[in-house]
Amino acid sequence: MDLDFSPAERDFRAEVRDWLSANVPDPPLPSMDTAEGFQAHRAWEARLAAARLSVVSWPEEYGGRGASLIDWLIFEEEYWAAGAPARVTQNGIFLLAPCLMRFGTPEQRARWLPRMASGADVWAQAWSEPEAGSDLAALTSRAEPAPGGGWLLHGHKTWSSRAAHATHGFGLFRTSGARHQGLTYVMFPLDEVAVRPIAQLDGLPGFAELHLDGVRVEESMVLGEAGQGWSIAMATTSSERGLTLRSPGRFLATADRLLALARASGDPAAADRAARCWTEAEAYRLHTYATARRIMAGEETGAAASLGKIFWSELDLRMHALALELLGERAGETPWLDGFLFALAGPIYAGTNEIQRTIVAERVLGLPR
Ligand SMILES: Cc1cc2nc3c(=O)[nH]c(=O)nc-3n(C[C@H](O)[C@H](O)[C@H](O)COP(=O)(O)OP(=O)(O)OC[C@H]3O[C@@H](n4cnc5c(N)ncnc54)[C@H](O)[C@@H]3O)c2cc1C
Repeated sequence: MDLDFSPAERDFRAEVRDWLSANVPDPPLPSMDTAEGFQAHRAWEARLAAARLSVVSWPEEYGGRGASLIDWLIFEEEYWAAGAPARVTQNGIFLLAPCLMRFGTPEQRARWLPRMASGADVWAQAWSEPEAGSDLAALTSRAEPAPGGGWLLHGHKTWSSRAAHATHGFGLFRTSGARHQGLTYVMFPLDEVAVRPIAQLDGLPGFAELHLDGVRVEESMVLGEAGQGWSIAMATTSSERGLTLRSPGRFLATADRLLALARASGDPAAADRAARCWTEAEAYRLHTYATARRIMAGEETGAAASLGKIFWSELDLRMHALALELLGERAGETPWLDGFLFALAGPIYAGTNEIQRTIVAERVLGLPR
């Protein structure tokens, strides 16, 4: 295997680095969980899109560059190293878009993907329900055929990130009683949904509950066939856990900052612990390049994606905890405290780590139930 970047990949890295150094907002944007910050993040996404850096690995017709997954990983490393803003469009781009590319009609792709790439539409994931989180197939929100065509959506979704300010949602709705086969993947605008913001630990409405009371959507808002929702959703979770949602660039940037902090502390034991975290971030990076190569060769990531999810979420938490230990009371004056609060959620979202460990035990290691 060739472990060097090609000249074209090195040129791409240089282009991204130059553009980011000229364009990353300084001072940083306000939190995307405020109304003001959300709009500022949307404007940032539009600038990225104008430079065709919003979705580099997408086909050109939808706003991308048709770049490889390796280029995307390079982009991500530069993005996070430059301290660029977190992506307000991430759930649409990384979770819905792969499903649209694979299961959507040409009309659905042309209608939704360019608007997602530019931040014109911001999508919230509406999967979880009060009684259906880990056991997602227990969900009870339903879609029923509407008189004259289309569907009526009813039910209660929760923990929907960014739904407090987003424009659209995508989720699973029950169209028949069969547990997994009775689910349908539906997209919907949020303007007719009762959205109740939920405050996170920092007090900002990072999530929302969605109450749908007969929200009408056209037939064209169904992705794939009625009853196919579970298999479409599962195709996304493996990309969410295994690659796209949390690329290594994010953790490498954190590890670099942690090393600097540990060095400045003058504590050799802390420096050793930080160096270990940096090594693990680098290991995740190399593992992810190998995963990208396998996907580019036509393989599926499958259940092994759960390993990556456990690894990055636990590493992120360890890095932030060490930073807080080093900073002591000064932590509150730095972005490390917010980072720590968010890292606490890593073992929960995208499927809890307990569930991921069961998947690894049963489907990767082949252990008995
Ligand atoms: C920051 C954050 C963002 C999120 N964003 C979204 C979003 O945008 N859209 C969305 O739809 N959802 C979102 N979620 C919800 C998230 O997907 C769920 O919280 C998660 O799937 C767990 O479901 P639950 O909260 O219902 O917990 P439960 O399923 O009730 O689990 C409670 C505890 O029991 C454990 N447990 C449950 N079943 C088992 C089992 N069979 N074996 C072993 N242990 C088990 C779990 O691991 C967990 O520790 C988000 C959550 C967080 C924290």
